[in-house]
Amino acid sequence: MLVIFGFRVRAKVLARLLLICRACQRPASQAVIQRVRWFTLFFIPVIPFSRKSLLQCAMCGHVSEIDPADAAQLVEQAQAAAAEPVAAVEAAAADNT
Ligand SMILES: [Zn+2]
Repeated sequence: MLVIFGFRVRAKVLARLLLICRACQRPASQAVIQRVRWFTLFFIPVIPFSRKSLLQCAMCGHVSEIDPADAAQLVEQAQAAAAEPVAAVEAAAADNT
């Protein structure tokens, strides 16, 4: 019997928000990405093998690994900003001054 198995990586953008990039030190859109490596059987993802939370800069493309708890906090922050965009812009302006 022939069994085909392997691994597949799937990445999903959970949120985008404006942050200071760790690499280029400029305010840029940062994508919070969850990358899951799956064990596949007959090309079907069966078991999640490893999970990583990443932060990717839209300006320079730098990707850094972040703690999953920090990623969840950033996603909440982005959702709160999307719910009340004017308040978020005012809060960001207040932080910068
Ligand atoms: Zn950058």
